[in-house]
Amino acid sequence: MRAGRIIGTSALVVALTACGTAAEAEPEWRAGDVETTAVSEAAPSPSPSPSPEPVADEQVPEEGDGAYETARGSNYVIGTGRTLITYRVEVESGVDWGDLPKVMTDDFADAIETVFEHPQSWPASAEHPVTEPEHGVHNESWRFQRVSGPQYKVRIRLASPATVDRVCRQVGLDTEGKYSCKTGNIIMINLRRWLQGSGVASVDEYPAAVINHEVGHYLGFDHQGCSGPGELAPIMMQQSIDLGGCKPNLYPFTKDGEFVSGPYLPS
Ligand SMILES: [Zn+2]
Repeated sequence: MRAGRIIGTSALVVALTACGTAAEAEPEWRAGDVETTAVSEAAPSPSPSPSPEPVADEQVPEEGDGAYETARGSNYVIGTGRTLITYRVEVESGVDWGDLPKVMTDDFADAIETVFEHPQSWPASAEHPVTEPEHGVHNESWRFQRVSGPQYKVRIRLASPATVDRVCRQVGLDTEGKYSCKTGNIIMINLRRWLQGSGVASVDEYPAAVINHEVGHYLGFDHQGCSGPGELAPIMMQQSIDLGGCKPNLYPFTKDGEFVSGPYLPS
């Protein structure tokens, strides 16, 4: 969390493993605009997949009803890691979307799946098991499957700012109407930044930033710092607050499969 202010002393233990802030980043590979160079002659029309514009702040729905709609499950297992992480995907209901297109449960589920399918996301641990003793992780690897029933390990929820604030506050975290958090086996993704991105992550990049970071907390990781000037920022770093001289990064692993680590920073 962005320093995740501790509201009650009894929340300290939980606060150590929870987090309000996503790590956001502008990846290096985005610097070159592939689309314009690749399709400039064949496609005179505008870019086929323009980045969505951030939603204006006043358009972001502020609240929902605190209940959730659940996405369909799937037999599709992403990765071959040792530990199966079954995750349930939920979107808050009762949200007044106004002129915005409603984010359907399938939309949110697809976005999460796309994050996991990236070759540098957590499923890459199958080929590159992770050992981070300070985080209690030893030669671990994970695979992921979306489920819809009552048997799951973690829920990933997209919720309005008011609901995220309320749920996260119960474990002593102040998400300030924009940050996300993990509480127990529930990941609360804040709709505001999902629609807006952040100062250092575009709307397109934000799902990778926030899902990889918050799932990292669920897998047992606490925050990490920058390991040195010019190094890639760990996904478990709170990159939007201070890069500490590191280069922004959206993924747990490098393109070469190295886990991007840094000094242990208990939150
Ligand atoms: Zn965090």
